Amino acid sequence: MSESPHAGSPYPYEAPASQALFDRAAAVTPGGVNSPVRAFRAVGGTPRFMVSGNGPYLTDADGREYVDLVCSWGPMILGHAHPEVIAAVQAAVARGTSFGTPGEGEVALAEEIVARVEPVQQVRLVSSGTEATMSAIRLARGFTRRAKVVKFAGCYHGHVDSLLASAGSGVATFALPDTPGVTGAQAGDTIVLPYNDLDAVHEAFRAHPGEIACVITEASPGNMGVVPPLPGFNQGLRDACAENGALYVSDEVMTGFRTSRAGWYGVDGVAPDLMTFGKVMGGGFPAAAFGGRADVMAHLAPAGPVYQAGTLSGNPVATAAGLAQLRLLDQAAYDTVDAVSAQIRSLVTEALTKEGVAHRVQTASNMFSVFFTDRPVRGYEDAKAQESFRFTAFFHSLLADGVYLPPSAFESWFVSAAHDERAVQKIADALPAAARAAAEATA
Ligand SMILES: *Cc1c(COP(=O)(O)O)cnc(C)c1O
Repeated sequence: MSESPHAGSPYPYEAPASQALFDRAAAVTPGGVNSPVRAFRAVGGTPRFMVSGNGPYLTDADGREYVDLVCSWGPMILGHAHPEVIAAVQAAVARGTSFGTPGEGEVALAEEIVARVEPVQQVRLVSSGTEATMSAIRLARGFTRRAKVVKFAGCYHGHVDSLLASAGSGVATFALPDTPGVTGAQAGDTIVLPYNDLDAVHEAFRAHPGEIACVITEASPGNMGVVPPLPGFNQGLRDACAENGALYVSDEVMTGFRTSRAGWYGVDGVAPDLMTFGKVMGGGFPAAAFGGRADVMAHLAPAGPVYQAGTLSGNPVATAAGLAQLRLLDQAAYDTVDAVSAQIRSLVTEALTKEGVAHRVQTASNMFSVFFTDRPVRGYEDAKAQESFRFTAFFHSLLADGVYLPPSAFESWFVSAAHDERAVQKIADALPAAARAAAEATA
């Protein structure tokens, strides 16, 4: 056995095939991964290289099976390799994979989105959530002819330069770029505010009259762990934007078509001017979108002057996968996902309570996450105050027992309609030891 690259890690090296792949990957790819959280840096140990997925399960390169509570960070809401989605993809692939022309599949997917989400009158397809938010911000600036953008600390909108700026503290702080490579000019028009703080929003509008193009927020944040909006928060944003001539941009890349058939809009009914989508709508392929008011979308090229384009936008294979998945997501499917989520949440609460571990399970429809704290988490500062060393122990115990959680205490857990009794039982069996590990963990 060779040594784990995480020399200080208390977790035994136990995935030799994944380790060998990780070593190869690290030689040719920065950090050995193509998206940072996959590298297990927050929890230590060897990231598992997965070779296949089936329903609620993933199988790694060492042949071990895991119940998947990441679901590709949200997209796989029907589980892995759903036969009808796979059939739609195979049929599409056989017809050719990209034409660089319009096609019927992208029209059908756009129609499905418009039919589900009332505030979306027109929609433009792109290939990633990052592209969707980047384009929505550009459109909001072009439409309002204003420069500044309000975002909230702890909300993630993809790796868009201007949206990577996170906060200095305090009200209406001009963000300094805290990622090398993002210039002051790119971040300087971003105003970062504490989440769930409407007073801060009103103060920002007072401090910058006629300058704010839009407020962008996760419809219900899942990227600092699950921190739902307090009652009235989204409506307050909606009203503040309307009163000040700014657009309200709701980022539903994570919540869209997951938290209900109309996403978080279907839960709180607050109508945004623009919305962004990704994850579930791509059915496991790179498809995403932004859309909203027809008069705003009319400013987009070629109808209007704001430029936006993409070689693979509306790709026929990706749109076939997304359309097949959305068509399978009827109310019964959402009821199943909601029920599985509730079941797992109560198992987690039961196990942690039994071991006397301070925790809060926070929920937004079927999205949820566990914070190791006894205080409510209303924003990023609260989230960071949790005892994340307990999560590390909890995570590794579950991993060893075949349950795959997001490898970070600041991420939502995701379930699918394919999580059946056997999968839930496997989680139930693994939880007592994980709760004990969390109880015994030391900082
Ligand atoms: C995942 C995510 C994004 C970015 O989507 P990518 O497809 O990873 O670029 C943007 N916003 C939210 C809320 C997300 O969860």
